[in-house]
Amino acid sequence: MNFNPSGAIFDLKQFGEFGDVNPSITDSSTFTFLQAKTMQDTFTGEQEGCFLYSRHWNPSNKYLSDALAAMEGTPSAWVTASGMAAITNAILHLCHAGDHLISSVVTYGGTYAFLKNWLPRYGIEVTFVNPKDLDAIKKALKPNTKLIYTETVSNPLLQVSDIPKMAEMANNAGIKLLVDNTFTPMLISPYKLGAHIVVYSMTKFINGKNDCVAGAICADEAFINDLIDVNTGTAMLLGPVLDPLRSNNILKNLHTLHVRMNWHSKNALYLSEKLLETGVKVIYPGLPSHPDYELYKSFLNQGLGFGGMMAIDLMDATLAWKTMEAMQNRGVGYLAVSLGYFRTLFSNSGKSTSSEIPIETQREMGLSEGLIRFSVGLDFDIEHTWKMIKESMIESGVLK
Ligand SMILES: *Cc1c(COP(=O)(O)O)cnc(C)c1O
Repeated sequence: MNFNPSGAIFDLKQFGEFGDVNPSITDSSTFTFLQAKTMQDTFTGEQEGCFLYSRHWNPSNKYLSDALAAMEGTPSAWVTASGMAAITNAILHLCHAGDHLISSVVTYGGTYAFLKNWLPRYGIEVTFVNPKDLDAIKKALKPNTKLIYTETVSNPLLQVSDIPKMAEMANNAGIKLLVDNTFTPMLISPYKLGAHIVVYSMTKFINGKNDCVAGAICADEAFINDLIDVNTGTAMLLGPVLDPLRSNNILKNLHTLHVRMNWHSKNALYLSEKLLETGVKVIYPGLPSHPDYELYKSFLNQGLGFGGMMAIDLMDATLAWKTMEAMQNRGVGYLAVSLGYFRTLFSNSGKSTSSEIPIETQREMGLSEGLIRFSVGLDFDIEHTWKMIKESMIESGVLK
């Protein structure tokens, strides 16, 4: 791809009310109107550019949304109070009682639980498929299918979805392709590859500080406007709005995302190569040994590397736990869920972020109980980090 997401953000001109280099924070829930008629026109959607009430739009949220739309190459975007809010609202807006959707079986644990346990209560049927099996997706299509759902890079196995092929299938069926791009902001632009809607947990790389939970929905104007329609919009009526103070913080962090992604990628590639040399099984889509290496490379925007997520498979949960504890004690990073932080985070996926997925399904997916997922941090001296990891693996008995 030759799309340049950071360039698109760089080109934005967003100023504050008094020429502030950062847009002013608008911490108001409601807004005045000089004329009653303007208020009515704003309500009915005939008047643009006016703010009515912050569950609908808020200027600080609009600045962040505009920047996200620029990054994604989508005409519009809307920010939410969490990644789950972005996912659930986008899905609920597209699928109603009696509808059907097809989802990758390898999704974020919360998403899987929502699709598996919660949606059926409201009469929405879900078929889970292996995201690498395009025939299975085709076979699962039904007259009432409204949506194909996948993650660009799956958690925690880092399998790469063939977005252009899935988009083609969705287009042929007249339905939508919804992609969670949380692991690869800026690296991959799903909308440019044909996806109709892109969702994010901004809690992760986009904000990058682990100081808040937030999400985003990026799509065309028709979808976003419909989502926040005062009478029928799922987001307007369920109300998962992001706090404008947070929006303002996240916007500032978004402006350093390209620098961070580049550094996360550099460190993750270095550690992957070192780990591979020890003979441990390493899962990183930037390694030619990864089954989706070529596909992934063909989707990547230039200049930001292969991303900050990688995993190692120690085959055994006890070994994984010992290794993680040793790494935390030595200062490699933290034994914690989540990702995209400036410090390295690691967790044993099968017993944490993927624990909603039943053991049998985990096995089918190829998710071993000894898998350690790493979100590699922004360490300046990555060689030193590697030494600490190696010592930890010796201490736990993984390496001699
Ligand atoms: C964390 C995460 C989510 C959920 O986001 P929250 O901000 O925690 O609600 C969804 N998808 C992926 C891939 C995630 O990593």
